[in-house]
Amino acid sequence: MEDLEQLQDRFHSMKPNEDYHDEAGARRACLLALQALREGSYGVGAVIVDADNTILAEGYNRVFSNGFHTARHAEMEALDELERNCPYISDRSSLKLLVTLEPCPMCFSRSLMSGIGEVRFLCADPDGGMANRCGHLPPTWRNLAQLQQQRVAHCSEPLKCLARDLAQANLPQLRQQLMLHIRG
Ligand SMILES: [Zn+2]
Repeated sequence: MEDLEQLQDRFHSMKPNEDYHDEAGARRACLLALQALREGSYGVGAVIVDADNTILAEGYNRVFSNGFHTARHAEMEALDELERNCPYISDRSSLKLLVTLEPCPMCFSRSLMSGIGEVRFLCADPDGGMANRCGHLPPTWRNLAQLQQQRVAHCSEPLKCLARDLAQANLPQLRQQLMLHIRG
């Protein structure tokens, strides 16, 4: 596994590919994921953009930043910021949550409650992701999920690979840290 510096170098050596609609937001999300790793948390970053791809809110995983915070996933941080800064947006169907890793059940459920129109992820998470498992939601949630689109982000392949590697970075150490916090 590459260390943080190598992942950082990889990011900075990539040229933005403007052929892809989500490229700019995806790059920002990867940069945020790097910051999460720098702070000793999971390498996941998220942005929320409007129909013009303007970033309205952003966040990164801060579960182990200065303590232990179970809810501070990247998507939760971005949604908190959106609700704080943009309470005036009443129609959220044109908003898009762009995240480096497929959202977990907690974050995906909140994205449904928030009314965000679309969730896009750079990298699927077969072990922990919920966006690809909409069919397993309780009926009420399944109905909500029909109001939202879920798909893989429209960005360049190297960026998707980087997002996957960011999500996998330091996993054994992070698992150890989690067990220390929940089982002592
Ligand atoms: Zn989550």
